[in-house]
Order: sequence, then structure tokens, then C-alpha cells
Amino acid sequence: MNTLKTDLITLALESRQFSHSPYSTKKIGAAIQLSNGAVYTGCNIENASYGGTVCAERVAIWKAYSENLKPVTITAVVVASDEKSPWPPCGFCRQVLAEFCTPETTVTLVNTEQKKTTLKFSELFPFAFEPEHLLK
Ligand code: ZN
Repeated sequence: MNTLKTDLITLALESRQFSHSPYSTKKIGAAIQLSNGAVYTGCNIENASYGGTVCAERVAIWKAYSENLKPVTITAVVVASDEKSPWPPCGFCRQVLAEFCTPETTVTLVNTEQKKTTLKFSELFPFAFEPEHLLK
């Protein structure tokens, strides 16, 4: 494992502390790296309406893209939890990630005990519905 990936894991784990999760009590952190080298973090932000809740992965993505970083892509994603088995992105986040990741983007799932799993985005979300489908 290279140093950069370790830094992303550390950042994702540290981002958990900012979680606003009074309803689920699940503190999730995320870190993403873009193809231009920039790194962004996020945490889950829950809302009493539930529907207004945003996962850590999407918070990191919104932060990055709200700074007009296109046309870069996401090259690495780390999702951190304190669950025994590291949590994968939910279906909604996978769909959002499909918009900005490549099939080769690495997705690392880690917990506070450093148990981790890394896979390619194409393994996490095969046959994704992508922007190209709307251009046909
Ligand atoms: Zn999600």
C-alpha cells in the first residue's frame, strides 16, 4: 500500500468525528482523491426528515465538484466506519459515484480497527447506469 492511500484512509477515519448522526448513531467518513491530485473529505450528515440525509461519500463529492473541478475524475474513494465489517457505499452513492469515477477507480472500505477491503469501482458497481446512456 502506498503512502497516499494510507493518507486517504487516515483522512476518512478522521472525518468520522464531524458526523452529524443523531438518528442512526453511525459515524461514517469518506475521502476521495481526484485525478488532479486534490483530496476532499466528507462525513454523513443526517436530517430529522431522513430524506435530507446525505452520506459521507456524497458530501465529499459535492465539496469537490462545487469548486468547479471538472473535468477531473475520482481516482480513489475511501469509506470509513466503526462497523465490524467495513461498510460499502449505499446504492444511491454508487449511482452518484458512477458519474465521476472510472471503472479503475479504487474503492477502499475500512473500519476503525484498520480492517479493509479494496476493489475497483467496476467490481463494486458493475453495469452501472452512466451518463453515456442518456447520450445514445
Ligand atoms: Zn450512501
